[in-house]
Amino acid sequence: MATRPDMEYQILVVEDEPKYLRLITVYLKLSGYRVLQSHDGWDALQQVFTEEPHLVVLDLRLPGMDGFEVCRRIRKTGNVPILVLTALNTDQDMIQALDLGADDYVVKPFSPEALLARIRALLRRTYESVVEQPMPDCGRLRLDEEYHNLLLEDRTIHLTPTEWKLLREFMRHCGKVLTHDHLLAAVWGPEYQGDHEYLRVYVRKLRSYIEPNPRLPVYLLTQAGIGYVLYPSPHGLPRS
Ligand code: CA
Repeated sequence: MATRPDMEYQILVVEDEPKYLRLITVYLKLSGYRVLQSHDGWDALQQVFTEEPHLVVLDLRLPGMDGFEVCRRIRKTGNVPILVLTALNTDQDMIQALDLGADDYVVKPFSPEALLARIRALLRRTYESVVEQPMPDCGRLRLDEEYHNLLLEDRTIHLTPTEWKLLREFMRHCGKVLTHDHLLAAVWGPEYQGDHEYLRVYVRKLRSYIEPNPRLPVYLLTQAGIGYVLYPSPHGLPRS
């Protein structure tokens, strides 16, 4: 596994509140990261495309173009990992941001250590992927490793880094039940144990790609109180 020293990573911080922008910048620099700053959405988009940062820390509440729109526009063209900053008690914000393609979130006010831990984990799962294992398949599903695409019959679906990791984990264990904690540890990292909301959001996204009717899943099934299972055929039954 190739590990990159922290100092090679460049992080764009998008935040209109000077207090937070300063705080985040100082801590990132102390940890050896290179930092780009932005105060608004348009400027942030421009920097994403011209500077190609390795990660974006994105406040959702911005003047002008808000963080949701920035997130949506970044995801239209690229898969740089995005960590959003949300205000307290706004679960809807968090779910909407994850739906738009954000990879993780931190709730304000946060401790700098907590933010750094999330940034490290996100960089690790984006850039330190294990490539030695052969790409799995499962029923109709194939993965294209080079472009992080899901190949499904005649469709090619581009996956965000987190969607990719989660689907790959399911496909490696095709037909086997995986527990919530196994999935959280394998995809997000051991510090995410118990964060079942992540899984619910991402399983919903994966179902929207692979299920004929995402509301009545037949491939990616919930095992109540345990976890999830991805079957190669509907409900794991032999094809007639
Ligand atoms: Ca703000």
